[in-house]
Amino acid sequence: MVRRRCDFLIIGGGIVGVAIAVALAEKHPAASIIVIEKEKAPGFHASGRNSGVLHAGFYYTADSLKARFTQDGNREWTAFCKAKGLSLNACGKLVVAKDEREDAVLDTLLERGLRNGVSLEMLSAGEARKIEPAIKTWKRALYSPATAVLDPLQVLSALVDEAAAKGVAFEYEAKYLGLDGDAVNTSAGAIQADYVVNAAGLYADKVARDFGFSADYFLLPFKGIYLYGSEGAVPLKTNIYPVPDLRNPFLGVHFTLTVGGRIKIGPTAIPAFWPEQYGGMQGFVFQEFLATSGRHLKLMMAGDAMFRELAVEEMKKYSRRYLVEQAAKLAEGVRGTDFRQWGRPGIRAQLFNSKAGKLEMDFVIEGDSRSMHVLNAISPAFTCSLPFSRYVVDQISQRLA
Ligand SMILES: Cc1cc2nc3c(=O)[nH]c(=O)nc-3n(C[C@H](O)[C@H](O)[C@H](O)COP(=O)(O)OP(=O)(O)OC[C@H]3O[C@@H](n4cnc5c(N)ncnc54)[C@H](O)[C@@H]3O)c2cc1C
Repeated sequence: MVRRRCDFLIIGGGIVGVAIAVALAEKHPAASIIVIEKEKAPGFHASGRNSGVLHAGFYYTADSLKARFTQDGNREWTAFCKAKGLSLNACGKLVVAKDEREDAVLDTLLERGLRNGVSLEMLSAGEARKIEPAIKTWKRALYSPATAVLDPLQVLSALVDEAAAKGVAFEYEAKYLGLDGDAVNTSAGAIQADYVVNAAGLYADKVARDFGFSADYFLLPFKGIYLYGSEGAVPLKTNIYPVPDLRNPFLGVHFTLTVGGRIKIGPTAIPAFWPEQYGGMQGFVFQEFLATSGRHLKLMMAGDAMFRELAVEEMKKYSRRYLVEQAAKLAEGVRGTDFRQWGRPGIRAQLFNSKAGKLEMDFVIEGDSRSMHVLNAISPAFTCSLPFSRYVVDQISQRLA
């Protein structure tokens, strides 16, 4: 097979890889850029299997990359959808509390949000019910008017078109296999690249290790499952979230709307036993199963109480009944009989820091003058992808200078 060459090679055609391709093409209009994607189309993994929520940016501490990029990302995607006539549901979001302890966390979220410059309103339960009559809350609820919902696959596909219009070449069914001297070996032949960007989602840690990075990290997959409401289900007007456990990066079982106004419960964060364990034996690779399940088990046995608590609680959510019970704590009129249809699950590529012994809460990148690795593009990386990718490209420029 002919060996191709390019200035920049991007591994992974999810929202992060494609947004980086666009940012590179804008910064280096004359450069040749190739995106390789192992699947036959974009959006087979997290970027096409998420809740589609454009987050507002109030969960994250002010020093984080998430805080830095969420608000701009929300604004830019909103403008993108409007300019291209893509679906957008500007339905907002209420965070509700179930007791006094959770009520106090609403103040922490408000404080974080205000520091991050996010528009938020603390409402009494009565005021919140004017927005969504069905909510259940202790005394107050936090309202985020900027939270919206888009169709992630539709948006990803529009961004792929934009990248292609800027000259980016996409190669599908081209899987990164490893390094071969100064070339990258793929299932579609070798590619000689001056610079490699790794945006391989669930496999980013593995790819990074070939380049000498990710020494202190490995990725743990967490599965997010969804339950869809039927026509007769409680008709919600806004997304409803519980107060999250701020010690971990997940947001708890919540209600989100789709762009078309359908209601869904989820997603969960259930430990998955291999990276692409969507259902049955799909994506099963024995070596990956051994490595991943071994890591999950080790963390549970190693006495990490927070991790064990999280894993046990999340496993229970495989039960439809339990999942509906959790959601019913957020709103009145939630009946099990109305939530029977499982949606397409998504899998979060969550980075674990083995040196510090903790789940990484923020985006993590590592790189040098030859390659850059996006290691923890967890939620809300879809929301953040446009400004975050420009940041990654600036980091590349600094390392090339
Ligand atoms: C259940 C769930 C709900 C979420 N909800 C939200 C939300 O509401 N809002 C939000 O902002 N974010 C959300 N997120 C997070 C968001 O979806 C991700 O942060 C984002 O999609 C990550 O994009 P990515 O491009 O890094 O990863 P991916 O979309 O996984 O893309 C990586 C790509 O790399 C490819 N690849 C892997 N290995 C190779 C290889 N060897 N060779 C070639 N290609 C390879 C894969 O096939 C894949 O297409 C959610 C995530 C999940 C899982």
